[in-house]
Amino acid sequence: MAEIDARIENIIQDVIRRNPGESEFHQAVTEVAETLAPVLRKYPHYAEHKIIERICEPERQIIFRVPWQDDSGEVHINRGFRVGFNSALGPYKGGLRFHRSVNLGIVKFLGFEQVFKNAITGMPIGGAKGGADFDPRGRSDDEVMRFCQSFMTELYRHLGEFTDVPAGDIGVGAREIGYLFGQYKRITNRYESGVLTGKNPSWGGSLVRKEATGYGVVYFVEEMLKARGETIEGKTCVVSGSGNVAIYAIEKLEALGARVVACSDSDGVVHDPRGIRLDTVQRIKEVERGRISAYADEHPQAAYQPAGNIWSIPCEVALPCATQNELDEASARALIANGCIAVGEGANMPTTPGGVRALLEAGVAYGPGKAANAGGVATSALEMQQNASRDAWTFEYTEQRLHEIMKDIHRHCHETAEEFASPGNHVVGSNILGFLRVAEAMVAFGVI
Ligand code: NDP
Repeated sequence: MAEIDARIENIIQDVIRRNPGESEFHQAVTEVAETLAPVLRKYPHYAEHKIIERICEPERQIIFRVPWQDDSGEVHINRGFRVGFNSALGPYKGGLRFHRSVNLGIVKFLGFEQVFKNAITGMPIGGAKGGADFDPRGRSDDEVMRFCQSFMTELYRHLGEFTDVPAGDIGVGAREIGYLFGQYKRITNRYESGVLTGKNPSWGGSLVRKEATGYGVVYFVEEMLKARGETIEGKTCVVSGSGNVAIYAIEKLEALGARVVACSDSDGVVHDPRGIRLDTVQRIKEVERGRISAYADEHPQAAYQPAGNIWSIPCEVALPCATQNELDEASARALIANGCIAVGEGANMPTTPGGVRALLEAGVAYGPGKAANAGGVATSALEMQQNASRDAWTFEYTEQRLHEIMKDIHRHCHETAEEFASPGNHVVGSNILGFLRVAEAMVAFGVI
């Protein structure tokens, strides 16, 4: 017993020592490794094969210079990253993030999470992540295009539909995927649809991909509530962020009869007690690429709070859909005090370890991002399927597939948590489920 716990603690300390300064990566590894002791007890051969140690070390990490010129001719230098974390189950798969905060530690934390998430979907995809410390905010379309072209001019040699298949993430939406795909196609002289996902449906993308992460997190929450004899209908909800994930989470919550009273961006929070008008949010954020503060200018009943804490607004369901570590322990306690019964993570690792502990101890239904936001990458895998078969599915059929996948993810996490003596704990369920699927393949492949 003690030997296994000590072994896991050593693995965590080794990761911290060998990856200095990468706090988000340390956090992600610790959160997973701490739940794996029961697995090593039940399956000691995973310890012999050093599967945890190997899973914590990326298979490859690429860092490259991205030079580009702005509209005035000034030269800028950014740093590009792609971390291929694990390819035991399929080609590397995971999004690209363009945000000024991007560094190697953030990309590694996201890539590590992605390994487990992708395994949980049951689709044949490995885990990866990438991006650049480029901030698209305030940049013209031409500047974004030049940046994407420069980024892909290096990255293309590492990609391929059987090698590594990126998608979007923060700061990388349909516009960026278009420029990236255009440059890949031009350089390689191949129309290789399956090399990127999140494409526009008019040239190889899948319907529902845009909506998939947001819809998926709501489906996951619906399953968690169902297990407790509750429904989404009539619930008051709060959704942080106002980007791709947040917008479609709000859309699905409203479609299922909930009322979303608040959303946010990195500058502040908008609280509309009558219910957020999604059409206004979409126009401001998606069309005008503006700030959420403009919402309150148009809807006088709404309050805008610069740098406000969205989690202090009373709600029954909370969906963090912005970024990592946005929901800390104090915020979790505020949610609990206000009667929140479910938290579903649309973002990756949005809740701090103290926040997760508080939610679990209070008995809040908690859906970790690895499971709850897996609908996005699952639908990316459906996009790859359509590309491989030169087919295009209807919206209804694709959404039905997504819905089934989310129900399966919830059921499998639930069953795994029960099997490993932590009933109702989706952290344990998702970590172990993902680990077992990857570990089995890694053992089969030998020491590579
Ligand atoms: P977007 O760029 O479309 O939107 C991000 C939103 O979060 C924006 O409203 C942004 O505000 C806000 N935000 C970003 N950084 C911060 C910050 N540091 N503090 C506060 N708010 C911030 O990204 P996505 O919606 O695609 O991604 C959101 C989250 O979901 C990320 O954690 C991502 O990794 C995760 N995710 C995304 C998937 C996808 O399919 N897109 C799949 C699975 C997970 P602002 O407008 O001010 O920048």
